[in-house]
Amino acid sequence: MSADWRARAACVGEDPELFFPVVEEGPLCEDQVAAAKAVCGRCAVRDACLEWSTTHIHVGIAGGLTAEERRAARAESLAPRPGRIRQPSPREDIRAAGLALLKRGESNQDVAVRCGVTDRTVERWRAAISA
Ligand code: SF4
Repeated sequence: MSADWRARAACVGEDPELFFPVVEEGPLCEDQVAAAKAVCGRCAVRDACLEWSTTHIHVGIAGGLTAEERRAARAESLAPRPGRIRQPSPREDIRAAGLALLKRGESNQDVAVRCGVTDRTVERWRAAISA
């Protein structure tokens, strides 16, 4: 893949701070990580980003993984070959982000826009929370 993959990144236009949680654990951190991973989950250049970020970015969320997850992958000598790394499913990431946003009180419409899903999907997520 050419070096211009960054121009096609889903995070272009997102608040960069989303990818760098200010706290290291707890619900706020989990929400932020889930929201950042949801952006990565719909990114067309995630594989290229993961390959590059595994060796070049040592903090924050990139390539759909946290810095700790990238370190673990590197330590296992699985990186930088994304196809060999057990990556969380992008759908799981987006669903987790959506559930976190709903639990925080965001409206269905806002969650749909932020997660890039239909209103019907958000309704299913809300029903799952209520069940
Ligand atoms: S995978 Fe995530 S961090 Fe990497 S370019 Fe895509 S959206 Fe940005």
